[in-house]
Amino acid sequence: MARQQKKYQIKNLNSGDINFDSFKKKLQKYLNDYQIKKIEKAYIIASKAHEGQLRKSGEAYIEHPLSAASYLSDFQLDYETIMAAILHDVIEDTEINMEVLQQEFGMKVSQLVDGVSKLDKINFSSKEEADAANLRKMILAMSQDIRVILIKLADRIHNLETISVLKAQQRRKIAKETLEIYAPIALRLGIHNMSIHMEDLAFQSLYPLRFKILQNFINDARGNRKELMKKIKKIVEDKLMDEGLNADVLAREKHVYGIYKKMKHKELKFSQIHDIFGVRITTTNVDDCYRVLGIIHNSYTPIPGRFKDYIAIPKSNGYQSLHTEILGPHGLPTEFQIRTKDMDILAQTGIAAHWFYKIKDKTSLKDYTKEQQWITNLLDIQENSGNPKEYLQSIKADLYPGKVYVFSPKGDIIELPKKSTVIDYAYAIHTDLGNKFSSAKIDNKVVTPNTILKNGQLISIFTKKNVKPNPGWLNFVITEKARHSIRASLKLIQREDATNFGEKLLSHALKEFNIKLKDIPVKTLKIVLEEYNCSNIEDLYREIGLGNRIPKLVAMRIAPTSDNKNKPKSSKGVNIEGTEGIILSYAKCCFPIPGDKIFGYISQGKGIVVHQQNCKSIKRVKSKNEEIIDLSWGEDLDDVFNASIKVEVRNKRGVLAQISSLIAQSNSNIESVTYGDTKETGHNIMVFVVSLTHINALSKLMSKLRKNVNVISVERKRS
Ligand code: MN
Repeated sequence: MARQQKKYQIKNLNSGDINFDSFKKKLQKYLNDYQIKKIEKAYIIASKAHEGQLRKSGEAYIEHPLSAASYLSDFQLDYETIMAAILHDVIEDTEINMEVLQQEFGMKVSQLVDGVSKLDKINFSSKEEADAANLRKMILAMSQDIRVILIKLADRIHNLETISVLKAQQRRKIAKETLEIYAPIALRLGIHNMSIHMEDLAFQSLYPLRFKILQNFINDARGNRKELMKKIKKIVEDKLMDEGLNADVLAREKHVYGIYKKMKHKELKFSQIHDIFGVRITTTNVDDCYRVLGIIHNSYTPIPGRFKDYIAIPKSNGYQSLHTEILGPHGLPTEFQIRTKDMDILAQTGIAAHWFYKIKDKTSLKDYTKEQQWITNLLDIQENSGNPKEYLQSIKADLYPGKVYVFSPKGDIIELPKKSTVIDYAYAIHTDLGNKFSSAKIDNKVVTPNTILKNGQLISIFTKKNVKPNPGWLNFVITEKARHSIRASLKLIQREDATNFGEKLLSHALKEFNIKLKDIPVKTLKIVLEEYNCSNIEDLYREIGLGNRIPKLVAMRIAPTSDNKNKPKSSKGVNIEGTEGIILSYAKCCFPIPGDKIFGYISQGKGIVVHQQNCKSIKRVKSKNEEIIDLSWGEDLDDVFNASIKVEVRNKRGVLAQISSLIAQSNSNIESVTYGDTKETGHNIMVFVVSLTHINALSKLMSKLRKNVNVISVERKRS
C-alpha cells in the first residue's frame, strides 16, 4: 500500500496499456504459483469469450476486467477474487454461463461472478425498477460474501476512469449513482481510498467546471503552502529523531470532492476551509502515537476543542487515529493525524485490510460485526419497502452521511441518523429497550420520548415491565428499525388494549366535529360498520387501535355533516384506504394516480382532496393550518384516473396524430389536450390529460412516447 499513502492525486491508477505480464508481476509478490496459474486460466478463458468485443473507447474488451483485477491486486486480495474480477462480465456479455463457470472454476468463483452480474433486462418494465432489483441482488450476494462489493467497486472505478467516451446522459447517470450509492457504500465499509478515488472521478464527470475551478484553487493554495508544509515537516521530523522515535511524516491533501462537500454543507468559501493540507504521522505502535502527540503539542499551540482521540474511542467503522489541530507558522491552523501503520492500512482500506493481514476464511461477514449489522439493515429495508423506487430512496437515506453520535451509559458510541429521537436510540440498542420504554434521561435530565438527540450526549433509558409501545411514537421516529419494531409489537397488543385505545382515539377525533360517540344515531353507525366490515363497534375500535383505520377519517364518516349523509356503499372497493363513504376528489394541480405517494386534507364541501405528496400545494394547505392526512391507495383498483403529461415535440405536421394514436394504443383515453410553443426552440408543447389505471401504465406510456423521433421530452406535469 505504499503508493496509497502518498499524497492523493487524481490519476488513472491503471492508465496505460495493462498487459497480463505486468499484472502477473504484481501477483507474484503475494500469491503462489498454483494460484497464479488459476488466474492465468481465468484470463485465457475470459479473453476468448470477449474476443472481438470492443469497449466504447475502442480497446479490446478484456482490458476492462483485467484493469479491475489489477486494481484489486493492489489490495492483495485473494486469488479467487482476482479470478472473479477477470471473469466479472462473462455472464452478462458472453456465451459463458454459470454452469461453465462452476465446472471450470468452482463454486466460490462462480458465485462471486454471479453476485456482480445484473439480472436479465427483459423482466423489468422500467430502468429504475431494473436498477433497484440489481442493487438488491448485489446487496444480498454481498451479505453472503463481502468480496462481491470489492469486485463491483473495482469494476465501477475502471468504468469511471474510462467514462469520457460515453454520451453525456449516460455519464451523468453513472456519476450520480456512484456518488449516491457506491462511494458511500465503500465509505461505510471503511474502504476510504476507493471511496475518495470514486468520488473525485464521479465529481469531475458530473460537474467538470466546478471540479476544474476547485482543482485550480488547490493548486494555487498548494504553491503558497509548499514551503510552510516543508518547514513543519522538517521541524517535526527533527524533533521525532531527537526523541528516538521512528515515524513517517507525510504532508497530505484533502480530495477535491471532500472539499466541495464541506464547502457546500457548511456554506463556506474555499478560503475558509482550513484542513485542505495536513500532516499524517504513522508510527510503529500505539504508545508512540501519544508520544508524538506530546511532541507536537509541545512545539506548537494546540487549538482547544480540536483534539480527538479515536484510538481510545474508535469510530463506528473501526477507524482509529489521533486528530489534533495546531497553530502553525504564521498562525495557520494545521491538522495532524497520528496513528500506527496498521491503523493506517485499516483507515484506508477498511474491510479489504483483512486480506493484507492474510487472515484466512474471513470472507463471510460474520467476522465484521458492525458491517454485518449494517448490511443486515439494508436487507431489512428491502423486505419492508414496497416498490423499487422506495427501496432506492431508503438505501440512499441510509447511506447519507447525516449522523449523530451519542453515548450509552456504558460509554459505547452509538451512531444514529440525524434527527433521531430518544425512542430511535432505545430501539437501536435493543428491541426490548424500545418496547419496554418508560422514561429517558439525556445527560441526567429527564426528557420526553420525542427529544431529538445531539452529538456527544449521554442517553439513559429506563424500562418498566408492563408497558407497551405508544402508537404515537410512529409520528416522530425516523429509523426504519424503530418504526418496524413499533408496528410489529402494536400488532401483538392484546385485543382489549387495542379496543380501549381505539375508542379513546375515536372520541378524541370526534371532538373536532363537536359530537360525542353516544350521540351518533344507531342507524348511521350500522351503515358505517357494515361498510367497514366490522360486526360491532368494538371491532371498529380495535381496527382503529391497531392502526388499520385512521380515526380522523372514521370520525368524519360518522359525524353528521352535509357532505356524506349515509351515502350508500359503492359496489367496488375503495380507491383510498379508510375512506369508505367519504367523498373524494383528486386535485387537478397534480393529478395523483395509484402508485403515487399521496396525502389529503378535508375541504368543506369537497370531502377529502387528494394530492401527490410532492405537490407544491402542500405549502398552501399547511399555511391554512389544515390537517394533513397521510393516505394510501386501496388494493386491486379497477377505476381509471386522470394524469397530466407534458410532451415537447418538433414542430411538424401530423405529430399530434402520432402522439394521440400512441396514447390510444396504450389503452389510455385522452381527456383533454392543450397546446403551446416555446419561443427559444420553436418546439410545440402539448399537455395531455390522459386517463389510466396506475403509475406503471403511465411510465410505460411515457417511455413509449419518448421513443418517437418527433418527441423531444416527456414529463409528468405536477402543478
Ligand atoms: Mn464491468
